[in-house]
Amino acid sequence: MAILRSYFLFVLSSVCFTVSGRVWTTTSGNKSEGELFEVVGNRIGLKIRGREYHFSLDRFSPADREYVKQWSRVPRCAACSGTLGTRTTKAGKASYHTACFRCMVCRKNFGPGNRFRKDGWGGMVHVEHFSQTGLCGTCSRIFPKRDAIKEQFFADGRMTCGPCLRDGIFKLNLLKEVEKRIWPTLMQVGFVKPKGKVTLQLVDRATLLREAAKINASGNLRGLTLTKYRVVKGGKNPGTTFEHRIFVLYGLPYVECVSVLAHEHIHVWLNERFIESTPPVVEGFCNLASSLVLQKEKSKLASILLENMDKSSSPIYGAGYRMMKQKLAQVGWPALLNELKKKSSPP
Ligand SMILES: [Zn+2]
Ligand SMILES: [Zn+2]
Ligand SMILES: [Zn+2]
Ligand SMILES: [Zn+2]
Repeated sequence: MAILRSYFLFVLSSVCFTVSGRVWTTTSGNKSEGELFEVVGNRIGLKIRGREYHFSLDRFSPADREYVKQWSRVPRCAACSGTLGTRTTKAGKASYHTACFRCMVCRKNFGPGNRFRKDGWGGMVHVEHFSQTGLCGTCSRIFPKRDAIKEQFFADGRMTCGPCLRDGIFKLNLLKEVEKRIWPTLMQVGFVKPKGKVTLQLVDRATLLREAAKINASGNLRGLTLTKYRVVKGGKNPGTTFEHRIFVLYGLPYVECVSVLAHEHIHVWLNERFIESTPPVVEGFCNLASSLVLQKEKSKLASILLENMDKSSSPIYGAGYRMMKQKLAQVGWPALLNELKKKSSPP
């Protein structure tokens, strides 16, 4: 509970923090302390209270933007982002402190001809030592197994890194809090809350796959929606009633739950309107909602999840998403929602 609360506080109010680091001022005058650790296009990474956040550079004061410009000019280590001195190693386009350019398992420096794997968080490991590491199912962070705690290895075979575990949602009441937070964003673009009852359930992978098989869904699923409806014709209360069940894998970090719940709630929206289309259109559309809510999140993880959707090789979730994203850019939300409503075919 405490973890989630602190998250909320930050997102809602951008309060001032008292940790070491530079003070950053937004264009609206909010101040916070954090350490700059990366610049990715128009986004900057700030470490605040040990957490990595991503912000759009536009939201900061001209002085801060100038600071970022100067910061980027200095050659930096691709692992720790510290300024490079004399003892450096070049590997491809990146340069490292020689001391930083090493394997997280054997702790030896990479030598000429060594093959290594690198994650998006500065972690590196010899290819031959990769089996001694875990790979986070959410953020793809590589971590040495010897440093991990047993809670990072879930009973259903999934594994997670320390920071994702720290934000993991294991209790239904927390998942419900997350669900409340996605609605203002979804409603802003024209979605409305469901008529029918929605039951949320945290489940393990086997349960999710078993439920998914009922609707012939498969793959690397994180969530699932099952809808039952009843049509009453004639009598006192004619009409259609709905009952929805949304399953979410337990232990996903808060930010990923935001993404999964937005996606599944769009399935609910589609189901209540009996909108049917091809899998790339349906899943791509649901992923648009994920993308929408993720853009409101400030953690670096949100950027990584967005990037994963942009790069996904899945013809349904990846290509479908990119196709729908293009469509959205052309026509906007109201027209896109109307277009889908036209595909409605009630029983
Ligand atoms: Zn370094
Ligand atoms: Zn090694
Ligand atoms: Zn992770
Ligand atoms: Zn889906």
